[in-house]
Parts: sequence; structure tokens; C-alpha cells
Amino acid sequence: MTSAAPHATFDDPHVMKTYGRLPIALSHGRGCRVWDTEGREYLDGLGGIAVNTLGHAHPKLVPALQEQIGRMIHCSNYYHVPLQEQLAARLVELSGLSNAFFCSTGLEANEAALKLARKFGHDKGIERPEVIVYEKAFHGRSIATLSATGNPKVQAGFGPLVEGFVRVPLNDLEAVEAAVRGNPNVVAVFLETIQGEGGIHAARWDYLQGLRRLCDEHDLLLMLDEVQCGIGRTGKWFAHQWAGIQPDVMPLAKGLGSGVPVGAVVCGPRAAGIFQPGNHGSTFGGNPLSMRAGVETLRIMTEDGLLENAATVGAALRAALARELEGVAGVLEIRGAGLMLGIELDRPCGVLLGRAAEAGLLLSVTADSVVRLVPPLILTVEEAEQIVAILCPLIKDFLSTGTTS
Ligand SMILES: *Cc1c(COP(=O)(O)O)cnc(C)c1O
Repeated sequence: MTSAAPHATFDDPHVMKTYGRLPIALSHGRGCRVWDTEGREYLDGLGGIAVNTLGHAHPKLVPALQEQIGRMIHCSNYYHVPLQEQLAARLVELSGLSNAFFCSTGLEANEAALKLARKFGHDKGIERPEVIVYEKAFHGRSIATLSATGNPKVQAGFGPLVEGFVRVPLNDLEAVEAAVRGNPNVVAVFLETIQGEGGIHAARWDYLQGLRRLCDEHDLLLMLDEVQCGIGRTGKWFAHQWAGIQPDVMPLAKGLGSGVPVGAVVCGPRAAGIFQPGNHGSTFGGNPLSMRAGVETLRIMTEDGLLENAATVGAALRAALARELEGVAGVLEIRGAGLMLGIELDRPCGVLLGRAAEAGLLLSVTADSVVRLVPPLILTVEEAEQIVAILCPLIKDFLSTGTTS
């Protein structure tokens, strides 16, 4: 593949330099393939970071959204929005929980969860409620959600952080028991069912079951951030369903609208009545376009068997990665569930992002040394094999030459 010709927008003076971007501008996509403005083709192993559930330009989603845009994009929550009621009913049905609040992004869903936890505490007479959060967690980049995040790089430069968090390591139930026992102000336990940005670390099923018991015993809210691992990514609608438990509060976003911004907080009966009119809101949240995107995404996922696809193609992808990388020095672990996979290397490997793109594959590197694959849930076994055929030689070459720049 030829290297990219410099393009005027690559040094744009008007967009804030918030991201370290590759010198590639994407123009359009179809299914699990995208093309850049120079006409080069890429296989999409990233799905816009676990967002493009249905890939690109899905033939069932596009006409539905076109129809919706022609009908109504936005009104306001001054009025009933029938599509909100439809999406809430479907999320309730799929989760077994009872009510949903809609917003537009993951951090906004997590902000709502944190507000729910605090009000839950205040309603019980706890004036300084505290929430148990986790090492390596990622919950977003607002001041409250970056404070809940367990990554010093995300927090650096933005202090003072929001108080009221107690941090514990993942999968250590005794650490949570100790934090709760000594502290009557604890009102909630807040974690990602599978940590995404932190490097694809899953909460063990028995650990989640233990947390559920502990939260019941101490009247705490169990809040599971499924912004990345939810919406079918692991082969169940929600990753915690593998453990056979239910949270009280579940923030969702990323994959819910297949690329249209949709966030939601789905609550069970212990949390659903906490907010009263005037306690919380969002101007864009629940607008007709975003709700239609959510309704259609869930409908198409069901019609096309995409949960089963995520499970079977994810298993095939993982097996093929294991086959190619077995015994390769420097590959520490391949882990994850369904189409949320991480390959941990023994050294920082951010350089692979650009090298993979040059070779025609989009992916991400998270927690410095974990190659992350979160492709669209429509990925086929053939496409999974193509990902492996591009990625594994790059990883082997990277590890054998030891270059990190
Ligand atoms: C991406 C992510 C968020 C933040 O979502 P935004 O839409 O970027 O605000 C929160 N939690 C988890 C688990 C995420 O993966």
C-alpha cells in the first residue's frame, strides 16, 4: 500500500488538537469495510470503538433513518416521545429491568448513574454518599466520570477531582467487603462488567454474583457500566447476563444507536423511582432520530441473529488469533468475550495502530500494550480470518524486531 499523500486537513488549524490522529481521512463504508479519501480500503476491526454495531450503510438501517429524518429529528422532552417509550420497552424486555432514561453519550449515562447513587444515599439520610469504583476503570471524561475513572492519565491536569469515590481492585470481593464494612456512607458499587479502555479485563461471574449478594445485604446499588460491553457485543444482550445476575443501574451508549449518538440508563425497581421531575434531564436525550436508531438497531440485531453471530464469529476470531500467536514470545494473553477481544503484549504497542492501517486494518491499542478488536457485530468468519491474516504477521514482526517507535 502506498503511503498517504499529505492532505490539507491533516494539519487543520481550526480543530482542537484533542486526539493523536492517523494521517487518514475516512470517506465512506459498507458492511465491515471502509474507504479513505484516497480510495484505499480498510477492514474495520474497530467499529468506531464498539459503536458501529451494524457496520456501515446497513441496508435495513439506512432507509429507516432516512424516513425518520424526513419525519422528525428532534422535538423536546416537554412532550411525550413515542419512540422513547418503544425503545424503553424493548430495553426493559431485554434486560429484565424496569425503566430507562435517555441521553446521548456514555459519560452522560454514567453521570446519571452517579447522580442516582447520590440521591439514593440522600433519600436514606446519608449526607456524604460514597461510591465504590475500580482500578483501571474508564467511565468518561466529564469531571465526575474522570474522577470515577481509574487512570491517572485521564485525570492529570483536571484536579481537583470530585470526591466521594472509594477505589478497589477488580475481582477481589474481600476488598469490597472491607470498604463497605468500615464505611456507612457507601451507597453503590460501580464497575464495567468488562473493562474496555483499561485493557479488556472482565469481572468474573462469581465475583459479580458476590457483588450482587453484598449489595443486597447492605442496601447498595449495583451499577454496571455496559457502555462498551453491552448491546450484544459478548453474545448476550448485556455482558452481566453471562453471570445470571441483574444490576440496579446499567448505563449504555456506544453500540445502541449503530453510530447515531444514543445513551441510556436502564434501572431496576430499586433505582427507577429515585429521580423525580426536575432532578435530571438532557436536551438531546431521547430525541426521535436517536430513538429510532436505537429501536432499529435492536430490531435488526434480533432479526439477523447478531448475538449468535457475535458469539460464534468472536469464538472463531479468538481461536484463529490463538492459533497464530500461540507460543510467540511477547504475547502475554488473548482475552475477552464475543467480539470484544484484547491481545496483551509485553510492551507498549501503540505503533501497531498506524502499521495496521497501512496494511488495511482498523483497530485500536488500549492500556498502552493491549491490541483491541471491537468490530461490527455483522463480522463474518471470512472477515475474521482476514483480520487475523493482516494482524498476526504485524504483531510477530513488531515483537521480533523490538521497535517501539
Ligand atoms: C466509551 C466509554 C465511556 C464514555 O463514553 P462517551 O460516549 O465517550 O462519553 C464510558 N464507559 C465505558 C465503559 C466506555 O467504554
